[in-house]
Amino acid sequence: MKTIYLDNNATTQVAPEVLEAMMPYYCDLYGNPSSAHKFGGQVAGRIQAARQSVASLLGAMPEEIIFTSCGSESDNTAILSALNTERGKGHIVTSRVEHPAIRSLCNHLTRKGVRITEIQVDREGNLDMDQYKESLTSDTAIVSFMWANNETGVIFPIEEAAAMAKEKGILFHTDAVQAVGKIPINLKAQQIDMLSLSGHKLHAPKGVGVLYVKKGTKFSPFLIGGHQENGRRGGTENTASIVGLGKAAELAARHMDEENSRVKGLRDKLEKEIIKVIPNSRVNGNPVKRLPNTTNISFEFVEGEAILLMMDEFGICASSGSACTSGSLQPSHVLRAMGVPFTMSHGSIRFSLSIYNNEEEIDFVIEKVPSIIEKLRAISPFWKPAAQSCQ
Ligand code: PLP
Repeated sequence: MKTIYLDNNATTQVAPEVLEAMMPYYCDLYGNPSSAHKFGGQVAGRIQAARQSVASLLGAMPEEIIFTSCGSESDNTAILSALNTERGKGHIVTSRVEHPAIRSLCNHLTRKGVRITEIQVDREGNLDMDQYKESLTSDTAIVSFMWANNETGVIFPIEEAAAMAKEKGILFHTDAVQAVGKIPINLKAQQIDMLSLSGHKLHAPKGVGVLYVKKGTKFSPFLIGGHQENGRRGGTENTASIVGLGKAAELAARHMDEENSRVKGLRDKLEKEIIKVIPNSRVNGNPVKRLPNTTNISFEFVEGEAILLMMDEFGICASSGSACTSGSLQPSHVLRAMGVPFTMSHGSIRFSLSIYNNEEEIDFVIEKVPSIIEKLRAISPFWKPAAQSCQ
């Protein structure tokens, strides 16, 4: 059975070009980039080239790029750094729909006396900018908003939010794990102090990420060890994966147009056809300010996990809620924050596409999903076709 992989916000296929670029760094060029000999030195040169590629994708400078192990590490580093450098400040502003890499850390920090303000979102998942403006105080150490939501794809007005923080002299971090490679980002003219990204969301391997730190921003390392990454992140570099991430960054820059046109076209066709054919279904999130690859669709009176299992029988991979929360039967915190009714949020599925998807796959999904929903509704005690009301 062919796998139809529509779960690219959970993780992506390593691009063949990325794997090819990485291979020499396991058995041939395996030197330690910190070694004094030429054998290691040549690896250090390749890490610098990868740093340049990532910087180019972000419109940043190479010295602003710190390689980490993942998006979660980058997120944790940014927040904890701010609490260290902004001495005496004990307040963080974030949103109600952040990934657990930020949310769980903030929860943990409340137990240490840090005050957290979570900004609300509206029914479309848009940030409440008035509440945000009012939340900024002289005690605020850092603001952290995701650039794009992993469950709905909704894009926050990050440039505007960063400018508002800067006006008050407050550090601004963005978790851009889902945005990088899917929408153009140019940090040069922006007031963003720190940005997180993760390799495995853009066709690089798992286990590598980046924290961008704007030149001149005060910074305190999270992993303390050797002098790697200019003393900003200890630990021998994951050389093969860093080289792979550099290649993935080059490919992402090249594929940005395709992501925004062909992939978006496939996503639009998928959601339009599904919504047209299946009663009591709806798309969650701002229909316009959204990542081109993501759609989050709710099917009323069905259980998301059951839909996933039945799609799995046909080789269709998607997700209900984020991958990190699946396994729990609680509706997603993102959809709850948006006020999506319980009967809808329980049956929500996230389809997230990539440049490796094609029209034939989308047509197959459009053909299979309606009969899956019909079968599940036939055995649902709550589904009464005569009372279809909640569009
Ligand atoms: N932030 C967002 C928005 C994410 O979607 C994810 C992963 O799903 C992360 C952070 C965590 O990234 P990583 O898996 O590299 O730790």
